[in-house]
Amino acid sequence: MACIFCKIIKGEIPSLKLFESEKTLAFLDIGPLSRGHSLIIPKHHGAKLHDIPDDQLAEVLSVTKKIAVAQGVQDYNVLQNNGRIAHQEVDHVHFHLIPKPNETEGLGIEWPTK
Ligand code: 5GP
Repeated sequence: MACIFCKIIKGEIPSLKLFESEKTLAFLDIGPLSRGHSLIIPKHHGAKLHDIPDDQLAEVLSVTKKIAVAQGVQDYNVLQNNGRIAHQEVDHVHFHLIPKPNETEGLGIEWPTK
């Protein structure tokens, strides 16, 4: 079993888990594009979206929403890459939840308060 996300599901590779159910796992991305960048994955192994049963996909999207609500983020991207040309690096379907910092955060700018 070479799939790193399957190893994360089994606990063979450590991860910072945010949510887990019978069908779904959410954990923090090891190389975050922003604070709180997380990955939401079906436990069913499949490389591409069309390999995943509909019920698992439905729960992944529902969990993605729950994580965003729990993080309290208002603005974020949900991203899912299929295939190398589409920048998929890990061949186990995953949805990125990438919070966008607000205009006063994350830019290293001290905004005047007066
Ligand atoms: P992709 O380019 O396939 O859509 O994104 C793969 C994501 O998986 C990347 O954002 C990368 O940082 C993340 N990633 C790769 N290996 C690991 C790992 O071992 N642990 C965690 N938490 N994230 C990983």
